[in-house]
Parts: sequence; C-alpha cells; structure tokens
Amino acid sequence: MKYCFIFFLTLSFLGSGCLPDAAKVNEYEETAPEVNRDFIHEKFILTREDFAEHLTGLSMAVAEDPAGFLDIAVRMLEMQPEYLLLVDKNHALDPKFQPEDSVDLAFYPELTRGRDGLFLSRKAAEALVKLSKAAAADEVILVISSAYRSYEYQQGLFSMFADRDGEEAASRYSARAGMSQHQLGTTVDFGDITNAFSESSAGIWMAENAGDFGWSLSYPQNLEAETGYTWESWHWRWIGTDAVKMQDEYFDGIQSRMLVFWNGNAPLLREALIP
Ligand SMILES: [Zn+2]
Repeated sequence: MKYCFIFFLTLSFLGSGCLPDAAKVNEYEETAPEVNRDFIHEKFILTREDFAEHLTGLSMAVAEDPAGFLDIAVRMLEMQPEYLLLVDKNHALDPKFQPEDSVDLAFYPELTRGRDGLFLSRKAAEALVKLSKAAAADEVILVISSAYRSYEYQQGLFSMFADRDGEEAASRYSARAGMSQHQLGTTVDFGDITNAFSESSAGIWMAENAGDFGWSLSYPQNLEAETGYTWESWHWRWIGTDAVKMQDEYFDGIQSRMLVFWNGNAPLLREALIP
C-alpha cells in the first residue's frame, strides 16, 4: 500500500495525465493502512502495550521478542487445544476425558511394545512412529512400556503406590487420577520406567533427538518444585514440533513452564488472532 502511494507521488512529479487528483491522494493518505502499523505481528490484533498489559506471567524471553513468540504461537493455535492442555497437580482433567481418536499401537509394526493394550491418540501415535523409525535408523530401539491410561486405571495405580509408600511419598512420583498426562493419550513411558533409562542408548538418543519429532520431557531433573514430580527420564509427552520450539526458545526448554504460560494466555491470543 505504501508503495502504491509512493508510486502515485512519483507519477504526480512526472506530470502524467492519468493521475488521481489531489483530493483523492489526500483521501487515500487519510485511510492509509495505519491500522497495522502498531501491531506486533500481522496475524494478531495486538500492540506491544496490549501484549505487556494483558498477557499474564510474561517471561523475559517472551517480553523481549513478542514477534518471534507470536510467529510460533500462530501455529500452536491451529493445533487441537487438548494437545497443549496443562495437566498437573493443580490442573485436573475431567474423569470422563478421553482422547478423541485413540488407536491401538499394535496397528503400527514400526513400534516396539513392552506389552499389549497400549493406546494413544492418532496424532501422537503417528509422531511416535516417526520417532521410532528415526531411532531405529540409528540402531536404537525404543520400547514403549505405557501409553494412554484411563482415569480409573490411574486411580488404581495411585492407590497401589499409596498403599505401598504412603500417600505423600507416592504423590512425588505418581499422579492422582485426573492429574496424569497419560490420560491425554499423548504421553509415553519408555524402557524399564526407572532413571537407568537416561543412561541407556534409548535414553541418550531421546535426550538428543526427541524434540525434533515434537516429544518433550515432562519432568526434568531438579525441577520437582516447579513440575510437582521428581525426575522421570522415561516419561515423554508429544506436544508437536512448534510447541517444542516455543519451549526451547522462550521457556528454558521446560515443558511445564511453557504450558503454564500457554494455558494462561492462549484464550487471549486466540481472540486476538486475525481470521
Ligand atoms: Zn509416565
């Protein structure tokens, strides 16, 4: 638009006969695309002031580069919201929540299953196939030990651990029903479900490569105060490559930090999105 205006001005200096008259140029000037000038990003009706004022829990990295943040956010808003849902000790899922399109992992010959009866939502299953194929190309076998867990299953699991170790101790390593990422159908436990996994070839490979396939470690080392759980090197959630990028570039590579921010601000971002 700006170029058209300059073009018109240039023509007027040349004295061309097919010019808009002065009144029209002025009119155009008045209705020039001022509207977009102050927005941080072409896809959002958001000025820097809106951004700083209305987004909650703004991290330094996001505050310093809102345009870069919004570049990734626009793609995350296209995902089904449940893929980026915050599920932790303060944010429980409905007991009835089930992944919409769950599939039996037995249908994918590329996967190595530790047992039968493993299900995931289709998107996560497909991402797991890509991950497993890439690992296999590097001669690494990823053994899937646990995947989707229903509310009832998690309830039984937690009470078994609580009976064994006491409720408080159990809650440091096991989620109460409704508070497990496994109920989402996008989360997988690998190997023997101990931190020996981190030193196995599969664990080392995952730490180096999983992010490229949209998989994120939910409970890293020394972050119990923030995530609510002790280190679980075997527990990975699929959030997609865009969210992993967001996590790495703006939230110090910490999934829970990114999801807390995302869940607090995604509704506002969705509202500000230009259709
Ligand atoms: Zn797990």
